[in-house]
Amino acid sequence: MEPMMMRSITEKIRSGIRLEAADGIYLYEAGDLLTIGELAREKKLQKSGRHVFFNVNCHINLTNICVSRCNFCAFGVDKEGEGGPYLMTPEQVFEYGAKAAGHGITEFHIVSAMHPDMPFDYYLEVIKKFNQAFPDIHIQAFTAVEIFYFSQISGLSIREVLSALKEAGLGSMPGGGAEILNDKLRRQLCPKKAMSDEWLEVHKTAHELGIKTNCTMLFGHIESYKDRIEHMIRLRDLQDSAPGFQSFIPLPFLPENTKMANIKRTSAVDDLKTIAISRLMLDNIDHIKAFWIMLGLPVAQIALDFGADDIDGTVIEERIMHAAGAETQKGITKDEIVALIKESGYIPTERDTIYNILATF
Ligand code: SF4
Repeated sequence: MEPMMMRSITEKIRSGIRLEAADGIYLYEAGDLLTIGELAREKKLQKSGRHVFFNVNCHINLTNICVSRCNFCAFGVDKEGEGGPYLMTPEQVFEYGAKAAGHGITEFHIVSAMHPDMPFDYYLEVIKKFNQAFPDIHIQAFTAVEIFYFSQISGLSIREVLSALKEAGLGSMPGGGAEILNDKLRRQLCPKKAMSDEWLEVHKTAHELGIKTNCTMLFGHIESYKDRIEHMIRLRDLQDSAPGFQSFIPLPFLPENTKMANIKRTSAVDDLKTIAISRLMLDNIDHIKAFWIMLGLPVAQIALDFGADDIDGTVIEERIMHAAGAETQKGITKDEIVALIKESGYIPTERDTIYNILATF
């Protein structure tokens, strides 16, 4: 017989009543995967019908030289150390992006490490150059931790940094750098970068300025289920007060090549439960993304039946996750994504960055 707590959670979900922290923790600890998946699928169908979204984008990582050196990161390196430090000049960035622009992309996706010497103007110039040359291609760039860092190195406020980037052509922001919104854990994982309130403050300010953003959660390291649920609730609260998150992207921690390589990679069950529980907890965020680069294509495909309605992009280049041992290929074609979504019984739907539908297949 179904336990009482599960029955009460099911009733809440089906009547549109918001789940509380205790409900989310219960789902993680005692809920069975298929029941949670079924409930999440119902919610996904209410939100976006049978559409599964993807976009065609080009990822650009400007540098891997980073002052932060987070313990979970396999991408950031010291300026003069191992790991192949690199820094692209604005001209190299532009040349790289211009090549991709000829391949039908609708988005430049630019994120980076926190370089010790480059001034804020360097980042502004990159955005300006792309915006001037390709005004029709949306620029999604810089996580909240980068924005916070730009504010520190430039002496400008967060609002001034975001306004300058918007003026230069920034269209929206990605959701990275959230990791887990708990300062006790952040002090162990990434003590040198924006803390929880600072990360949230950047997104709040972006939303107030009309800049849409995404949000993420890095899970499967030193956090508990309670920490995950509290993280989701902090995002949900911000979305209530200053809406602007378009999608939530749960990212499993990939331990390989990091200082935390002793931790075991999350299981497929944990990945799928996290996708489904996030769909159920985050009732005010429209889209849950199964980021195939981190999940791997097989789990990402199954995630479409567990509440995810977006599979991200046909990423052309990606260095950050692959530095951490993501075993996925670095890009897949549009045909491959379309086939994968169709095989799951959903409608492959190409979108732009802000979820306008461009085509269905
Ligand atoms: S996660 Fe980002 S801030 Fe941290 S070391 Fe890696 S690149 Fe730098």
